[in-house]
Order: sequence, then structure tokens, then C-alpha cells
Amino acid sequence: MSANRERVYRGGAARATVWRNVSGMDRRERRSHLTAPRVPTVGIDIGGTKVMAGVVDADGTILEKLRTETPDKSKSPKVVEDTIVELVLDLSERHDVHAVGIGAAGWVDADRSRVLFAPHLAWRDEPLRDRLSERLLVPVMVDNDANTAAWAEWRFGAARGEPDLVMITLGTGIGGAILEDGQVKRGRYGVAGEFGHMQVVPGGHRCPCGNRGCWEQYSSGNALVREARELAVADSPVAYGIIDRVGGNVRDITGPLITELARQGDAMCVELFQDIGQWLGVGIANLAAALDPSCFVIGGGVSAADDLLIGPARDAFRRTLTGRGYRPEARIVKAELGPEAGMVGAADLARLVARRFRRANRRRVERYERYGRVYGRQATD
Ligand SMILES: [Zn+2]
Repeated sequence: MSANRERVYRGGAARATVWRNVSGMDRRERRSHLTAPRVPTVGIDIGGTKVMAGVVDADGTILEKLRTETPDKSKSPKVVEDTIVELVLDLSERHDVHAVGIGAAGWVDADRSRVLFAPHLAWRDEPLRDRLSERLLVPVMVDNDANTAAWAEWRFGAARGEPDLVMITLGTGIGGAILEDGQVKRGRYGVAGEFGHMQVVPGGHRCPCGNRGCWEQYSSGNALVREARELAVADSPVAYGIIDRVGGNVRDITGPLITELARQGDAMCVELFQDIGQWLGVGIANLAAALDPSCFVIGGGVSAADDLLIGPARDAFRRTLTGRGYRPEARIVKAELGPEAGMVGAADLARLVARRFRRANRRRVERYERYGRVYGRQATD
């Protein structure tokens, strides 16, 4: 890929010149979403169980969406790469694709070219951006999935018009992302926003990360299910409702079931949400003390419980916030874009690196790869 700077002229009455560096991601970032070309791009969300790919236009509208299973962790990194290439080429048969954005469940380095570590995949220090842009012949952007989801909620979702926001994703654990003045804060090494592993209870529950008492052990889907199962195993009278529901099979207690019962007014399930909601509010107060955003967006599967979760979180937040009564209070809101947020955000971030007249195209890619084989070298852009 050429490292030359290129000059891009933008249309319109005021023709501004935007400088960008074709290979340097830090400079690409200078191009804002306001000046990025209004072209469709592909966003890809790679989670632990599924890969979702969609063509998204400049207004955040999904034009087409495909999904497939995430290749098994034991498979080589190449298999995941092939899956991504196949999805993009499939979509590019029906749409002009000018760039590709990836939101991956894992740590992405600060210049967003390598995936340092992904717990569900075989990626270890994987140069994903360059591998994919070499094969797809369009610019590629790689980021953490929580970052791309936060970006989407700011651009098109619950935090529209609020450029200082913190996103908290409650799934099996806690994911997070920070937006400051409309910029994703990734930290010096790319791994900022790992709020789930802040220690909140010294000597508390053991966490898969190796430490004890991490926040996600008290406020996540796993915490919810663990508590419910403990009560069921202890044959507590408060758990009779849920024990009946699963026919005594404690393994069948899941987050969605607890949510459903809480909605129907089951006292124990409501109480469990109050507990994790309260822990959520305390953690948010800590984050407000450190980061002072105007808005906290709560996403992930557990947020489906709506006010059963967010109500207690707001109460605990107000009780715990430092300087309460003397400072403006951040809003705590539920995410709006649902499970597609990561994909939509990845696509929108990809517009920042898009080149208006470059498109992914199966025939071009195949011709290029054939050329690479015939001439015995890895074809490069
Ligand atoms: Zn932990």
C-alpha cells in the first residue's frame, strides 16, 4: 500500500482540501464523519458466536444484512479471514462497497491495524487490517466492538447530539467504550474501556480474568444467572417460582428467562435486577467521577430488562455520585440500536477511511489473486 499522501478535493460550494495519509490510521482519523464521503460501506461485527455483516448507508440505514456462525476457536485465523472476505464479496455483488469496517470482540491496537487478542477466536497479534485490505482491495478499518457500538449510538441512536458519552454493554460480562468530543478514546495501547475488570469488592467473586471482585462479577448476565442458580440450588422459598418454571433443572436458568419472570412480577427475579442495577449505578458513579460524560448508554442483552435494571441503577447513581447536588447529572439511557449497533458503527467508522471510487468487486479481487498466483507473489495494493 502506498504511503504517499494524497489530496482529496471535496465537492460543493466551499471546496475544502482534506489531507490524509493512505497508510497512517492516525491521520485518517482527522477526517471527520462530516467530511467523509457519503458512500455505502460494509460493517462487520465479529462476536463469540456469530458474524454479522451489513451494507450501511451514510445515514445509518442498513441496506442488507447477512449473518453466519463464527468459525470455531480451534480453526486458523485464515478461516475467519476467509469468512469475512466471502461475506463482503457476496454483499458487493448487489451493492457498491467503498470500505469495510470491522468491530471485533477483542483488543485492537491503538493504530487499529492488529487484533492483539480475541478470547473467542484464534487471533493473537493478528495484522487483520492489512490482510483484509490486501485481499479486498478496499480500505479496511478494525476496531473493538464496544467502540463501534458506542460510535453508532452517538451517530444514530440513544446519544445523538451528545459527543461525550460512555457506553456500557452488559452481556455475559461488561464491555465499555468512551467517546470524548466525538472521538473514540482508545488509550495509548488501544485497550481503554475495560470497565468490567475494575475491582469493586476486594476478595470478592473469582473472575475468569484471574482476579477477584471485578465489577462484571456483580453486574452482568453471568452475575444474574449465578445468583438465581445459587438460590435455586439452596432450594430457597423465594426461588420456587423459577424452580417450577425450569422443572427443577437449575442448568436451564438463563438471563432471558429471569428477565421474562421479572417482567411478570416474580419477586426474586425483580430483586436480582435491583441488585445488579444497584451495582451498575455504583460503577457508573465511579466512571462519572473519572470521565464526566453527559450520557451513559446501557446496551447488551441484559439491558432488555429496561427500567427493572435502569431504574435501580439511576437511584444508586444519584446516591453515590461525588459532588451530588452541586453538579449536572449525566443521563443514564438504554441503547437504541440493539444487536446491530456494533455493525452499524463499524460501517460508519469505515466511511472515514473510504475512497469514493474504490469498490470491492468479486471479479476484480479474483483477477488480482490469480495475478498474484501466476507471478508467484502476494499481490499488494
Ligand atoms: Zn476480571
